[in-house]
Amino acid sequence: MDKTRLENYAKLIVRSGLNVQDGQEVLIQCSLDQPEFVTMVVEECYKSGAKRVTVKWSHMPVSKVNYIYRSLETLSEFTDTERAEWQYRVDKLPCLLWLDSDDPDGLAGTDSQKIASANMARFPSIKPFRDAIENKYQWCIAAVPGKEWACKIFPGIPAEEAIEKLWDAILLCSRVTEDPIAEWDNHNKNLAMRCKFLNDYRFDKLEYKSLNGTDFVVGLNQKGIFCGGGETTLGANIYFNPNIPSEEVFTSPMRGRADGKVVSTKPLSYQGKLIENFWVEFKDGKVIKVGAEKNQDVLEKMVAMDEGAAYLGEVALIAYDSPINNTGILFYNTLFDENASCHLALGRGFNNCLENYEQYSNEECEKLGINSSMIHVDFMIGSKDLSIVGVTKEGKRVQIFKDGNWAF
Ligand code: ZN
Repeated sequence: MDKTRLENYAKLIVRSGLNVQDGQEVLIQCSLDQPEFVTMVVEECYKSGAKRVTVKWSHMPVSKVNYIYRSLETLSEFTDTERAEWQYRVDKLPCLLWLDSDDPDGLAGTDSQKIASANMARFPSIKPFRDAIENKYQWCIAAVPGKEWACKIFPGIPAEEAIEKLWDAILLCSRVTEDPIAEWDNHNKNLAMRCKFLNDYRFDKLEYKSLNGTDFVVGLNQKGIFCGGGETTLGANIYFNPNIPSEEVFTSPMRGRADGKVVSTKPLSYQGKLIENFWVEFKDGKVIKVGAEKNQDVLEKMVAMDEGAAYLGEVALIAYDSPINNTGILFYNTLFDENASCHLALGRGFNNCLENYEQYSNEECEKLGINSSMIHVDFMIGSKDLSIVGVTKEGKRVQIFKDGNWAF
């Protein structure tokens, strides 16, 4: 890949994504796939004033072997080292960058129930740390090509070529132009305009309809707001872009208010399995029935993971004509696929989708209708003919999406 384009991408990630400030620490989590690019990013962090950049390498085949050979007991352990690492994050609030290149099938052949049980056992230990840093630090997820991932998306061609094609797709979807920082400023303004339009109406609910069978109503939170693009940290007030790419305008709906059926428009890659042609039915906010042509059992297990897994945490609006959807590629990766079309997420909601959320504790946010769960799984429901109508408390109806795209 052309070095200048990669440098532009590294700049975008560090300056617009993390927005690293003078004297901050940065933690980078990545796989062994693109060490030269990771080095570029590290250098860019230092040029932006970072005082320490730590890279935490991983390798999925090693994770897989661990999952296979370790007992549920040792997998469930929350070690002193981990505790110290989390405490360090609470104390120093380092920026966190995750460069994702994972093989979507990398954990195939492992016992997903064992992994889920281990995660569930560890969750209560991790949650207090996560709650303590939430919304207080800059973080960003971006992607780089891994060989297995690239070969899955582009089968039948040499790996080198597939990697090059995936680089191209990542850079295109991430809006890495000659001046990606200006491009993202513009993009963020656009998303902010859409959020303002939606927030000014204070819709009580959204009604979804599509010829594919989607016929669904979701209740919105009266204290809720739509967000999109960049976010601002609490306390330090630093603007950053948590997802590159990002096309969505989203909110956390009111827990307990969702009725009807939604039909998925893209397969869902979950724990190494692909759930295909599926639908989900809700009553009073809760999933009461699911169906899938492939891997229905995985979907059933997912919604039964914990109490909140059967409730919605997110409602996201994205034009059918998004740069990602227009590539026509199924990425088998949430960062891209979730930004390809309108989606919902089961599980954990976002406190920062409540107005003045910083005034509330986590428990209060839950009471106000933000769902809590150990999972947050997005699934796509955007179709070419999708219609979404916003309805206010007074009964005023406003067309928000028409024929799959924004209606305003
Ligand atoms: Zn989303």
